[in-house]
Amino acid sequence: MTNPTYNFCAGPAALPKAVMEKAQQELLNWRNLGISVMEISHRSAEYQALATTAEANLRKLLNISDDYAILFLHGGATLQFSNIPMSLLNATNEAEYLSNGMWSGKAAKEARRYGNVNEIEIVATDSEGRRFVTDSGSWSRSDNPAYTHYTPNETIEGIRIGGKLPANSPVIADMSSCILSENIDVNDYAMIYAGAQKNIGPAGMTIVIVKKAFFEQMNFSQVPRVFNYQEQAKQGSMINTPPTYTWYLASLVFEWLLEQGGVAEMEQRAIARAEKLYSYIDADDFYSNPIAIKNRSRMNIPFILADNGLDGLFLEKAQAANLVGLKGHRSVGGMRASLYNSMPLEGVDALIEFMADFKRKYA
Ligand SMILES: *Cc1c(COP(=O)(O)O)cnc(C)c1O
Repeated sequence: MTNPTYNFCAGPAALPKAVMEKAQQELLNWRNLGISVMEISHRSAEYQALATTAEANLRKLLNISDDYAILFLHGGATLQFSNIPMSLLNATNEAEYLSNGMWSGKAAKEARRYGNVNEIEIVATDSEGRRFVTDSGSWSRSDNPAYTHYTPNETIEGIRIGGKLPANSPVIADMSSCILSENIDVNDYAMIYAGAQKNIGPAGMTIVIVKKAFFEQMNFSQVPRVFNYQEQAKQGSMINTPPTYTWYLASLVFEWLLEQGGVAEMEQRAIARAEKLYSYIDADDFYSNPIAIKNRSRMNIPFILADNGLDGLFLEKAQAANLVGLKGHRSVGGMRASLYNSMPLEGVDALIEFMADFKRKYA
């Protein structure tokens, strides 16, 4: 008997099977309209109802108050790297960018094109060669930054910064690879953004959760109108045609999350999956993870083989065992198992079983 396929890809990532089946079922005939949701006007009453429900469900999932606008936008997280500094930086102010990996570094680099950036490297290596996030007291911070940008989960390195970030400035978080996987207090943030393709839906949409009062600090005079957050909020993210099919799939994911028990349940599952895999990786030296325990990601777990000459064989055999998407990012090498909300614990069990079998054969 062959395993079901488990997809560990970092993004675009696996979606819940029940969601995919629902989408398949109603692909050609949505809500008995005789046409697909892909083929309907975003201004129709039916689509507007979908949009409203999706937003209400996301508010419920993350307990988001009316002080915040929720936007469903094009352009990916990478566009936010520009849209944010374009809206908030000028010749006289500065932004603080905490750098703990590839994505936070890219955000800082892009922001520098628009204004003054204080990029603070916050990762160091301990005596055992493990990378960790340094104490916030040691960071050389800005005096009065327009905002502090950080990435609570670095998808490529697998580094997590849990809890509330110490900051006196408005905090902006790139939550592309961790949103909806753990309880957060949205009130701790001026703005949160997340590309859909990790934990929300297929690629093509970015969710922005932004405090309405924060609009007052923004300047939209030099940005394209579709990049005007306040205007997007006013127009229900429909200044132009939104990514309707991704939005629809996101709405199915939100419903699925609510049925499953919401974000608290997702957090418990994420902890269970991650603990299981890390404890297997730590058991001996054949596999290893280079991150200090307190900063290990629950979503993206990189691991390397002691003998990297076996990498190709590992990936080939894993693929043959229906365990796909395990190749590490080209900048890190080795393997990476992404365990987003849609990953059942059985997927982790299957991976561990495969890893143990591989070790027996090739150690
Ligand atoms: C994937 C990812 C991005 C890039 O997202 P795009 O939608 O491709 O622009 C940015 N930040 C983080 C943390 C990511 O995981």
